[in-house]
Amino acid sequence: MVCTRMLQPRPITTHFRPLLQTLTTTGFTAAAELNTILERLRVGPTRSHLNEALSIFYSPNSSPSHSPKSYAILFHACARLGCVDVGQALHQHMLTHNPIAIQDLYTANHLLNLYSKSGQLDCAHQLFDEMCRRNIVSWTSLISGYAQSGKADACFSLFSNMLAHYKPTDFAYASVLSVCDGLRGKQVHALALKTGYNVFVYVGNALIGMYTKNSEISVYSDENEAWRVFNDMEFRNIVSWNAMIAGFQMSGQGDKAMKFFTMMHSDGLGFDRATLVTVLSLLSSQCDLSWSLKFCSQLHCVTLKTGFVLDVEVVTALIKAYSFLEGNIGDCYNLFLEVRGHEDIVLWTEIMATFSETEPEQALFLFSQLHTEGLIPDSYAFSVALKACAGFVTERHASVVHCQVIKAGFVDTLVLENALIHAYGRCGSIAQARQVFGEMRLKDVVSWNSMLKAYAFHGEPDEALKLFESIDVEPDATTFVALLSACSHAGMVEEGTRIFNSICGKHRIAPQLDHYACMVDLLGRAGQIFRAEEIIRQMPMKPDSVVWSALLAACRKHGEYQLATIAASKLNELDSGNSLGYVVMSNAYFSLNNFDEAHLTRKQMKWLGVRKEPGLSWTEIGGRVHEFASGGQQHDLGEAIRTNLLDLVKQLKKLGYTPLTSLVLHDIEEEHKEEQLYFHSEKLALMFILMNAKDPHCKSGVVRIMKNIRICLDCHNFMKLASQLVQKQIIVRDSNRFHHFLGGICSCNDYW
Ligand code: ZN
Ligand code: ZN
Repeated sequence: MVCTRMLQPRPITTHFRPLLQTLTTTGFTAAAELNTILERLRVGPTRSHLNEALSIFYSPNSSPSHSPKSYAILFHACARLGCVDVGQALHQHMLTHNPIAIQDLYTANHLLNLYSKSGQLDCAHQLFDEMCRRNIVSWTSLISGYAQSGKADACFSLFSNMLAHYKPTDFAYASVLSVCDGLRGKQVHALALKTGYNVFVYVGNALIGMYTKNSEISVYSDENEAWRVFNDMEFRNIVSWNAMIAGFQMSGQGDKAMKFFTMMHSDGLGFDRATLVTVLSLLSSQCDLSWSLKFCSQLHCVTLKTGFVLDVEVVTALIKAYSFLEGNIGDCYNLFLEVRGHEDIVLWTEIMATFSETEPEQALFLFSQLHTEGLIPDSYAFSVALKACAGFVTERHASVVHCQVIKAGFVDTLVLENALIHAYGRCGSIAQARQVFGEMRLKDVVSWNSMLKAYAFHGEPDEALKLFESIDVEPDATTFVALLSACSHAGMVEEGTRIFNSICGKHRIAPQLDHYACMVDLLGRAGQIFRAEEIIRQMPMKPDSVVWSALLAACRKHGEYQLATIAASKLNELDSGNSLGYVVMSNAYFSLNNFDEAHLTRKQMKWLGVRKEPGLSWTEIGGRVHEFASGGQQHDLGEAIRTNLLDLVKQLKKLGYTPLTSLVLHDIEEEHKEEQLYFHSEKLALMFILMNAKDPHCKSGVVRIMKNIRICLDCHNFMKLASQLVQKQIIVRDSNRFHHFLGGICSCNDYW
């Protein structure tokens, strides 16, 4: 009768024994006491109530209380508290002490529910088969168990079998719908319409979920079943709205999802955590960043008003949205501090990710705090830490995290190997990047792309092209961006053009905006400006600001001012905050002796509040990162560095250094122009390193500097001569690539 095959009775030797020994209760008082506790358990089960109840239940005098009802209440509590082991022991106890209790339908159903809920489906199904009586609750229990475990076939067949005996409940409908494919889903929908169950909110919500999951139509219209179900629902609740919002999200219609949320809010329907998390996740798919950022702040206000700002999941989603939208990093950190006490690795990883690009030191500090908070980093946390390592001047940090990755047993994790290649490549150790790449057991397209990008960044186009020849996965759009930029950094026009033509030819990939931008850059740098312009004219899509700035930079390099005017006005139109257009144009007008226009351009720049991105450089001495801004005033030793730097300039002038004052805006005095050039951030950083030459960290023959924007021609000349004078290798990583200066020449061959 009962499932004796799977469970042999065994003596109860659980941890309740010590408690039992202290109990001196008689059978009668035990039963009375147990009833009180069971009643408490029935209403609101807690682990301590359960333990207390079991102590009395298992005591020698308590046999009168081993009624089916007592078992039922205890099974129910075990199911609620997720204590399947305790439940199983009770089941064994029942088989030994009161075997006929299982014939009680109420008790059997509770046991069935316990097994179903905890995913012990073999036990559940066996019990179901052996039950002498079953009712709708028994069927629904097992159906929902299969649904929760995602066993679609078993769930659907059980649901079909049930129809011969009972009309399904709304809960059974919802369960089976959650695992249905499109065809079965329609059959269940038809049945719900026939039986009138479609009017139940619970069923309607499940139908929306089912259609959303299986929908082939991406646009919500009357043709779409999910939308039709939602529209036809007489009563809806928050879950119905959430299901529709999730549907919009899955079909890539973020704007509609947000409108829905706004309607929910303004109609006073309220929302829950799921609504907020979904809507926040949508913000990263919106094109209009400033609108999204505003919307994000409004959502932030809403969370403050409703108290959701203390919900760790909501806060994680808020931080993610703010950081994607380039919102205030301080706001993100404050949000994090509010809920910091929650030991949640997802939250910690998100705040690390927020800092990883702009403040990698802070990201790594948080990473180091994980252990003290009792959290164990997962592979995602490691990949974020490695992303931060990519932002340092040396590979020291990447090596440290690499060791931790090995210790944590993630050594063969593909995403982490890819992140390591990226980190080593970015912080200057191409050899280590190559080693990780070489030792990988499995590589995907990201691995190949990361290695190709590392070669491009280090100005090694031959290595990149050689590697590409041995690629054994299908290349994607990023692969070609890496190859084209490798060619671009070396002026390999022929090779680049051949690769560009092969994208849609041999590889059947439609060239994207990035590929066109690379080609404009490649041709423009090589002085083939009109071929670059031709590419822009032939582009099937609208050129963006990246394309126009590439052309503009080429015009500036080759003195092509006529075309520069067009490119600058296009750039100003698309990206009015970009200073490049104004600077190039004002200099162009000066060169053409058109002083009025030149002054007007400068004034326009001022009126519009456009500022040149301040040049920043970093270097690391004694494990500390030092930051330098152009001018050097911010640094503690600013004055000393400037004085020493002027001395160095004097010595370099003897070697042939001539300040390129034409690079400075024309409307300042010649003398000030020179000064502006001398105090560019990378020159200050170099001087600081030379001043600390006695520090053991600076004794090696290699000097490393990192820069946020492209190195200017004057600094490039300066570094070449300085490497000759001080007899050291100077490695400068600018926003585009690495420059290795040694003995008066640069690895880029003056082509960057
Ligand atoms: Zn410079
Ligand atoms: Zn260079």
